[in-house]
Amino acid sequence: MNFSDINGKNITVLGAERSGIAAAKLILKLGGIPFVSDISADDKMSSRIAELTALDIEFELGNHSERVYNAEYIVVSPGIPSDAYVLARAAELGVPVISEVEFAFNFCKGKVIAITGTNGKTTTTSLVQHILKTAGLNSFAVGNIGNAFSESVLDDSSDKYFVLEVSSFQLDHIVNFKPDSAVILNITPDHLNRYNNDMKIYAASKYGIFKNMDENGTLVINADDNLLVDDYIHTTANLQKFSLKEKVLNGAFIKDKNIVFAAEGKELFFFPVEQLLISGMHNVANAMAAVISVLPFVNDYALISRALRSFPGVEHRLELVKTINGVKYVNDSKATNVDSVFVALQSFDTPILLILGGKDKGNDYSVIHDLVQNKVIKIFAIGESAEKVFKYFHKIVKTEIKRDLAEVLESANSEARKGEVVLFSPACASFDMFDNYEHRGKVFKQEIERIAK
Ligand code: ADP
Repeated sequence: MNFSDINGKNITVLGAERSGIAAAKLILKLGGIPFVSDISADDKMSSRIAELTALDIEFELGNHSERVYNAEYIVVSPGIPSDAYVLARAAELGVPVISEVEFAFNFCKGKVIAITGTNGKTTTTSLVQHILKTAGLNSFAVGNIGNAFSESVLDDSSDKYFVLEVSSFQLDHIVNFKPDSAVILNITPDHLNRYNNDMKIYAASKYGIFKNMDENGTLVINADDNLLVDDYIHTTANLQKFSLKEKVLNGAFIKDKNIVFAAEGKELFFFPVEQLLISGMHNVANAMAAVISVLPFVNDYALISRALRSFPGVEHRLELVKTINGVKYVNDSKATNVDSVFVALQSFDTPILLILGGKDKGNDYSVIHDLVQNKVIKIFAIGESAEKVFKYFHKIVKTEIKRDLAEVLESANSEARKGEVVLFSPACASFDMFDNYEHRGKVFKQEIERIAK
């Protein structure tokens, strides 16, 4: 189906958040007639309302009226639940529904490197862009990270590279989407509630990333993930794999503490793991995936190695904030689930003082029980779930409830000894005490600056 001929046509956009507004602006720019509809109508919408009003874009808030279906097609934002009535009704009336990523793709002339997975998307997307930039290529990190894809294709030209962080929600409604290079980092249970708690359905939405790809494209997958084995990956694309456990013929694997990049079983080049600034084996996997996905566009191995050596990581993800009196303070505020804490704990060989707590999303702490027992010497519990953290951990390790991060850092500063790590990897959402995980991470860093003085 052709979605690009929209001059003079009605197009509905569902959702008036960042990507919805960007899609509406693109429709307007291309001569179409956008109509934005959002079921919520709270105070947070005021800046969106101002933006739409200024652009003279028609919109409705608080409900989806019948006007929604008077459209050539509907562009759906990632926040709309897949079982929403509005989508069922659109299907009933035969109005096609596409995601914002699909929409933008139809107007994109540049190269697209798309990255999906349950964890590691932002880190890998940033690293891919870092490599492209180091190579002097005109590249943009878009999608869930930074600008919406629709925003960036507005002034598109063919020499651009779009590194697109894409969630499974965006992949649910694609039709023509065909990246030049695609990565599936991993598939683990998360957001399962959106997929009827069915892992296969969740995985199938991720497989969508390569459904239109052919031999001109490169598909990079995690060979260690049992939902990414050959039984599930049917493609004519150039298939590349990365593994932390076994040798692969095409892609990347570990040999003697080096990442080896290989093609047809032959070594292309290697990179010493210890030279990565980002820590943890999960980040080694991210680095492997990032490099393989850009190899079709950048083949200067010395340059790639230089880029790997200089990539500082992304803020709020195992970010080393400061070392004070030999104690490392690490901000991992983005760790909003137990799996993220698991990889964080695995990333350190030195004793850890761990800060946990916030808004609990039904955490099962048994996942990190053994790691805590082996590596953690003290837990500070904060926020709404402090009691739950205390109850679970106090018999395993010394656990103390603290009022806020200021109190935690004062204690940590007097208790932690040289060579130890103070790790803020909360395993919880931030909304009990903060606006979002970025805000929480910033407060943590401010408090570190305060005790450093
Ligand atoms: P995403 O954009 O997919 O949420 P991020 O790069 O922002 O991914 O990382 C989110 C969290 O997931 C971080 O706390 C990090 O510790 C963890 N993480 C990053 N990469 C991986 C990976 N490859 N496997 C498992 N966990 C990871």
